[in-house]
Amino acid sequence: MRRSIALVVVLVLCVALLAGCNTGKEETTSTTDSKAATKTLVMGTNATFPPYEYVDDNGTIIGIDAEIAKAVCDKLGYELQIKDMEFDSLIPAVQAGSIDFAMAGMTVTDERKESVDFTDSYATGVQVVIVKEDSAIKTVDDLKDKKIGVQSGTTGDIYCTDDYGQENVNQYANGALAVAALVNGQVDCVVIDNEPAKAYVAANTGLKILETEYVTEDYAAAISKDNNALLTEFNGALKELIADGTVKTIVDKYIKADA
Ligand code: GLN
Repeated sequence: MRRSIALVVVLVLCVALLAGCNTGKEETTSTTDSKAATKTLVMGTNATFPPYEYVDDNGTIIGIDAEIAKAVCDKLGYELQIKDMEFDSLIPAVQAGSIDFAMAGMTVTDERKESVDFTDSYATGVQVVIVKEDSAIKTVDDLKDKKIGVQSGTTGDIYCTDDYGQENVNQYANGALAVAALVNGQVDCVVIDNEPAKAYVAANTGLKILETEYVTEDYAAAISKDNNALLTEFNGALKELIADGTVKTIVDKYIKADA
């Protein structure tokens, strides 16, 4: 009698265990399924680049790139997740697959095209020079032998290093740090894209942007060379958003025509 009770208990336990296992399995499967259904795309950016990407008072990353990316994801049925990182980590992250795409006011260059694919361009940027209001630097021709601050790994960094030599270029992790170095007198000027330059000049007293522009360039999103499907999807959505005026509306919201 005792034995049979023990047997029943063991049997019940086994059934319970098996049921438990099953439930576990189903849960795992359903979690995977629902993840696949939501399809999240991870965008990498460097959120110190207003008005393309910056952190608002609530700690949320906003800006032109964030909104265009959201519109693209909405159109394609993806959730958007934004990951903040150093600018010069973005291309390696795209290559490693730790982000699905990078959108960071990123200039299309032949050198970068060797590492990643670029979507169609959605905006134009211009490299400009920020100086102190009373600076002896009057035009881009006066940059020779001056200390130039740049954001590490950006086109501004690449052009200045080529044109004026590495010994004259101080690299900073982002635009905010480069501009702080100018304010503190550690560098004589900062070479950076025009829209962030305007935002930084507005946020700091005693700075101005030189009239002469350095280089004009195209911005696009970077996608892994192994993800041609996403490149095609992204370009399809972007084309529609450009055609129906959504991209322009987003740009105009952040960049006032007279600014
Ligand atoms: N447009 C520049 C580049 O691509 C700077 C971009 C940035 O600093 N976010 O190098």
